[in-house]
Amino acid sequence: MLEQLGSKTYLINVTNKVGIFLINENDVVIIDTGFDDQAGQEIMDLCATKKWHIKMIVNTHSHIDHIGGNNIIQKKINVPIYAKKMEKAIIENPEITAAIAFGGYPHKYLRSDFLLAKESNVLELTPEILPAGLEIIDLPGHNGNMVGFKTIDDIYFLADAIGGESTLKKYTIQFKYNVKEYFETLDYIRTLKGKLFVPSHGENFSQLELDYIIKLNKDASEDIIKNIKKICRKKITFEHILKYIFKIYHIKMDFIQNTYIGASIKCYLSYLLDQGELEINIEDNILYWRTL
Ligand SMILES: [Zn+2]
Repeated sequence: MLEQLGSKTYLINVTNKVGIFLINENDVVIIDTGFDDQAGQEIMDLCATKKWHIKMIVNTHSHIDHIGGNNIIQKKINVPIYAKKMEKAIIENPEITAAIAFGGYPHKYLRSDFLLAKESNVLELTPEILPAGLEIIDLPGHNGNMVGFKTIDDIYFLADAIGGESTLKKYTIQFKYNVKEYFETLDYIRTLKGKLFVPSHGENFSQLELDYIIKLNKDASEDIIKNIKKICRKKITFEHILKYIFKIYHIKMDFIQNTYIGASIKCYLSYLLDQGELEINIEDNILYWRTL
């Protein structure tokens, strides 16, 4: 389960990937904490076995599969947790994730423990709080203030800025809060030079594979854009856009997917409207989208 990637860089494959950076022989930084209490407990157990003291946790962003272990670790061993501004606000108030997706107070199906992380107290992540050998890299797009980390071993933890090949096949519609920034972040990642790249989901990859993996990620988003523009050739309401998206990507509609895939599609609609590729009009109090 514990994999050594470099002299100071380790990876734990719990429910989602967790990075470990060795500050010195005894002290470590934990990069993200997995999905839930169980993941948090596994991280603590593993560190205890290695006689590593958890000095701090840094969260790449506020999604449950990255912060789910925060609460139990903080409760049991009271470590400081750091995240960027917008992510900090959400980690401290997990209901905001569901409220953003739903566009209002989330109903009972969206407030389940499976969807919302337990809250934890978070301090603001700045370059100064990090030990030597660990750097923040800004990766906005997938979520507002998402970051990744580069270690002194030239290993990049890329969070959800990029998906490994198997992940892209499994989850065809991935959330991109700000699609424009997401594309810019992909362009930025293309310029990075490193020994190993670690997305939170899917296979790690080398410098040689970087261009190929970026292309796969870009193609997946461009396919969604192409389909939205096709669906909107005639004026159409949001609920009907969603109906066709679910059909094209073979996704089963339920209350949760309606909200979360719906939120992902709304982010693409905002992007295409801003880019001048779609227009919106209101007729008889109904809002219609149409491709220009
Ligand atoms: Zn995420």
